[in-house]
Amino acid sequence: MPERSRKIAVMGFQSVGKSTLCIQFVEGHFVDNYDPTIENTFHKKVKVRGEDYTLELVDTAGQDEYSTFPAQYSIGIHGYILVYSITSDKSFQVVQNLYRKLIDMIGKVHVPVVLVGNKTDLQKERVVSTEEGKRIAEMWGAMFIETTAKRRDTVSDVFTKVVLEIEKSEGTLSAD
Ligand code: GDP
Ligand code: MG
Repeated sequence: MPERSRKIAVMGFQSVGKSTLCIQFVEGHFVDNYDPTIENTFHKKVKVRGEDYTLELVDTAGQDEYSTFPAQYSIGIHGYILVYSITSDKSFQVVQNLYRKLIDMIGKVHVPVVLVGNKTDLQKERVVSTEEGKRIAEMWGAMFIETTAKRRDTVSDVFTKVVLEIEKSEGTLSAD
């Protein structure tokens, strides 16, 4: 079977760990200081439920509450990873704004989305509870996961989940 290509945009407020998550997934290490202004595209081959995929990850420079939804991320993207930090309420508000703008922009009610609460290693600084994250994702009909970019295993779960969401919406996998 030919490989399937899937293009995924990683979005959210600045400093939530978008680039760090991408680099952990693609290169397998934690980076401390990645230029926040860089918009990069990463490629990675993965196997999900026995199928081979080539993922194209678009690591965006970040959005804030004033940003209009960047038009270039509204077309040709199969799925979205929307990231906030569990240590920043602001980032949690921004991600909710972003979701509304995304839905308005593409005019579909269901979009493959994974909501990611990052930086779980910083429990002492936590200000967004797991329940709050879960509740928002349920409202959206999206998947939810908390992770830290320091751990490779949960980071790869993020990307597996987005592939599953994409496949679910394309109807090629059962919705379990
Ligand atoms: P971006 O602007 O969303 O791309 O954020 P970056 O990926 O550049 O990360 C911003 C800062 O947070 C960097 O110093 C990262 O090392 C740090 N960071 C990212 N993810 C985590 C995490 O899970 N835990 C901790 N402690 N720091 C993180
Ligand atoms: Mg970045």
